[in-house]
Formats: sequence, C-alpha cells, structure tokens
Amino acid sequence: MKTGGNHSEPVQLYSDEQLRPRSLDEFIGHEDLRANLKVYLQAALERGQALDHTLFHGNPGLGKTTLAQIMAAELGVNLVSTSGPVLERSGDLAAILTNLGHNDILFVDEIHRMPITVEEVLYPAMEDFKLDLVIGQGPGARTVKIDLEPFTLVGATTRIGLLSSPLRDRFGVLLRLEFYSPAELARIVLRTARILNVAITEDGALEIGRRSRGTPRIANRLLRRVRDFSTVRGAERIGVEDASHALARMDVDESGLDHMDRKLLSVLIEHYGGGPAGLKTLAVACSEDVRTIEDIYEPYLIQSGFLKRTPRGRMATSKAYRHLNMLG
Ligand code: ADP
Repeated sequence: MKTGGNHSEPVQLYSDEQLRPRSLDEFIGHEDLRANLKVYLQAALERGQALDHTLFHGNPGLGKTTLAQIMAAELGVNLVSTSGPVLERSGDLAAILTNLGHNDILFVDEIHRMPITVEEVLYPAMEDFKLDLVIGQGPGARTVKIDLEPFTLVGATTRIGLLSSPLRDRFGVLLRLEFYSPAELARIVLRTARILNVAITEDGALEIGRRSRGTPRIANRLLRRVRDFSTVRGAERIGVEDASHALARMDVDESGLDHMDRKLLSVLIEHYGGGPAGLKTLAVACSEDVRTIEDIYEPYLIQSGFLKRTPRGRMATSKAYRHLNMLG
C-alpha cells in the first residue's frame, strides 16, 4: 500500500480508515507523546532531513498505525506500509527500500516478526542509507553497495522484548503507547459518533469508554454495535441505558471484560486453584492460542489488576475472585 501524504485524489476509505485521526491535533490522549513527536517532526521539517527512525510499542489497537500515517501526512512525504511476517526474503525488503523517495516513511508493522536475514539488510540501510547487495553465488559472489534515499523507518510492535537489541538500538525515537483512560476513550467515541453521524450523550460515550479495555479500536467497534442495538430499539440518541443494555447483550461486563477474559480467570481459579499456572497450560485449557492470550487478553487483565504474572506462572488476584463471585 502506498499512501501519499500530499495525495489529492479522492480515495474510497474503509470504515476503519475513515475514523483515523489525520493530524496530531486530532489524535486524542497521550499528550506528552504527542508534544514530543510534534517537536521531532518540526525539527526534521526545519532541517529538511529525514526524521530519526521511530519505534512505537504497545498493545494492538492503541494507535501505532494511525501515528505512522499522521507522521507522513505532517511531513508531506509518502508512507509505504508493510509488515514483519510479509517480508519473507531479504530481496522483498531490498525492493521496497530501493523504491523509497527522498525522506519517505517506511512503516513496518509487527516488526518483531521479521526474519533475521531480512533484519540484517536493514542495519546498513538504517545507519548509512546503504544497501549491501550480494550478486552471484558461491566463490564468485560479490557485494555491491547501493545508495538509498534518506528515509525514516517507523516500526510498530506489540512485543518490544522480542526485538533483537541490534535492531532496537538503531531506533532514535522509542515511544510507548499505554492504555487510554475511560475519559479519553469517551472523547474518541464522541469523535467517532460525529463522523458516523450517530447521536450519543456524553454519559453514553463514557459508558462505552469505561468498557473498552483501554483501547480505541475496541471503543470504535463497541460504538458501532451499540448503534445497531439502538437503531433496532428505535432510540433517537444513545444514552447510558442504551449503551449498558447493548454491552450486556454483547457479553461485555461492567469492567469491560468479555467472555474469554472471564473464561481465562475462571479456568485459572477453578482448575488451578488460582495459579500459578503456565501460559501454555492456560491456553490449552481455554482452547485459545498462546499468542492471542499474551498479546490481547493478558495485558489488560494485568493492567486492571485481575491477573498477576509471576516467575512461576499466572495468578488470579483477589479482585478476580470478587469479580467472578468466587471464594478465594
Ligand atoms: P495499532 O496500529 O496500534 O493496532 P491503529 O492505529 O490501527 O492501532 O488504531 C486503531 C483504531 O483506533 C484506528 O482506526 C483509529 O481510528 C483509532 N484510534 C487509535 N488511537 C486513536 C486516538 N488517539 N484518537 C482517536 N482515534 C484513535
């Protein structure tokens, strides 16, 4: 995908795309991160240089891709997007790098899943804007250096710990995206409602915000479903009752936990005495993939105090027992 920052043709937007903030001023929350990023962008613009390579890390749906797109738009450069698992061979990356324009942004999502052979091509490219190409095979093989246009690599990862240190050390800017507060999510819901032309009260938006697991993508998804329930019920404006009714119907409880979150906690409590239990064991018992539990469910359960990660495994907290009405 190539999206021009200075693109003027009308494009058919997917609904998720339509909801993405287009500028740093439209991006809600993360005030400090935004203020710092603004400085880095302005400095790069004033110097006419490519911005330093930037790494965003944080859970899925917190705004990493959105920020990469905003950076390209604010700098007026092209954004070329790819992802770690798609880059199977070093040639795939070399082809992308040689096609980048002056100061363009290369966005690599899930950068921790890039094969090491591909990663090695990135090192000289990131450091000196050079590509070492091996031509031929066997004893006659030789390396030629190709000059690249200056560019900015923007990486996104849900698992910074899985990034090799040579790669991590080559990023000049490391930015962590945290979960959003219910009030910030309510502002995101109100903004999305305006775009989608949905009438909602501030309390209704806050109810959705409170139950969105700190994540804008989830808040936007829940708003769309709440809207469906309200349309069918004939509500003119989504109020707190409508939101609450719809969320209960979707099995999202008062704390924003869904069916899988509760299953994970109840399996841990009922089958393993509250833990500690290993992640793999839990995944098998819940018939869920280890990575999905680690990337999607666990971070929010830990952050909101339902689960603890200990050296011997996962443990349910007393808050989890109370939430599920179980005896500790
Ligand atoms: P990630 O790349 O971290 O998985 P995205 O950038 O794709 O997350 O964000 C998911 C959705 O959430 C986007 O469609 C965007 O509309 C919305 N979103 C994320 N962060 C914000 C924010 N700070 N303000 C408003 N909307 C946001």
